[in-house]
Amino acid sequence: MPDSVSKPDFQADSPLAVEGGPGWFTGRKWPWPPADEEIGRSLQRLWHSGDWGRYTPPVLEQLRGELCRRFGVEGAWLCSSGTVAVELALRGLGIKPGQEVLLAGYDFPGNFRAIEAVGARPVLVDLAPGAWHLDPEAIPAACSPQTRAVIVSHLHGMLAPMPRILEVARACGLLVLEDACQCPGATIAGRAAGSWGDAGVLSFGGSKLLTAGRGGAVLSSQAEVLQRIKVFAGRGNDAFPLSALQGAVLLPQLEKMHQRHRKRLAAAAHLVEKLRQAPGVQVPPLPGPDAASPAFYKLGLWLPEAQARPELRPRWLQAAAAEGIPLGEGFRGFATRGARRCRRVGPLEQARRAAAATLLLDHAALLAPPEVVEALGRRLVQIARWAIGEPGA
Ligand SMILES: *Cc1c(COP(=O)(O)O)cnc(C)c1O
Repeated sequence: MPDSVSKPDFQADSPLAVEGGPGWFTGRKWPWPPADEEIGRSLQRLWHSGDWGRYTPPVLEQLRGELCRRFGVEGAWLCSSGTVAVELALRGLGIKPGQEVLLAGYDFPGNFRAIEAVGARPVLVDLAPGAWHLDPEAIPAACSPQTRAVIVSHLHGMLAPMPRILEVARACGLLVLEDACQCPGATIAGRAAGSWGDAGVLSFGGSKLLTAGRGGAVLSSQAEVLQRIKVFAGRGNDAFPLSALQGAVLLPQLEKMHQRHRKRLAAAAHLVEKLRQAPGVQVPPLPGPDAASPAFYKLGLWLPEAQARPELRPRWLQAAAAEGIPLGEGFRGFATRGARRCRRVGPLEQARRAAAATLLLDHAALLAPPEVVEALGRRLVQIARWAIGEPGA
């Protein structure tokens, strides 16, 4: 398998595929996971050692150690998925039936379910304006005497302002669960995303930046959080395990996490710069030389007109699919869920807008060679013009 897509035979002004053009990337693949000899060698070593068949292989001890070192936490609990990691983290934080947990009205669907799974009640808070993360300033008014914790997710290449979130949450007496499933390698004020909360979670799912097909982890520096998880998950055996084989494929990826992070960051910066010139689409702020360095599982884009013109997003998706560009839509959000399942705080306008107006470019496109990324940028600008109906797009 090639490490990245081959050079596109792309003419700058050729018509879009939806207009009868050749279809720029159709038939090509954006390879993920990338072909990586190191992963093969790591599996070979595991096979030779016989540890692939053990319950508690040294490779998992090594993985825990590497996660702690690279994320700057005291402990890591390995488990079978990011979704289970969120539930285990809530149990680790001691969330009990009848209590409330805040989360954004636009988030990964499993996070809502994880709150329900521990018997607690989700409370929906709006997003910060123009962002995909919850609004820290909305936290105080959302709290009731039953509220115990807040789940904060870093989504689509944007980072939640963790220092401010911790400050507000602490003032309200809330525990913080930081969902870093989409951003391993990102830093906020020099500190790893995923290490700020009382607990943080990672996913090793098949589409994620660190992938073992399946898998997840809870990060925490609080011994009692990890101890509660151990008691819950230990049923004579670990009920939600990560295997030695999964550990072996993850270790070489951790080695390359920062190198790939920089490559994706450069590609995202180029595309964001390019799309600034495009009509009808809004891009996230470019990472400045300051504190935060986002990681891109998906590069998120907004269509500001999408709520008024519901045909816009399908047009983008249709045009991108015809080109072979890996572009999808965002989460559906929870703003329309009924009062039986959750408590809603305010009209959740930003969450509704995110659910209607988000487009996501997959990270595999960001690992392509620079000339491919450049051509992709030009193509996306062309799609933007076509989607709003600009003549000559
Ligand atoms: C993918 C994801 C998860 C869940 O991870 P799985 O390993 O797929 O269960 C949780 N939160 C966010 C924000 C995610 O993107």
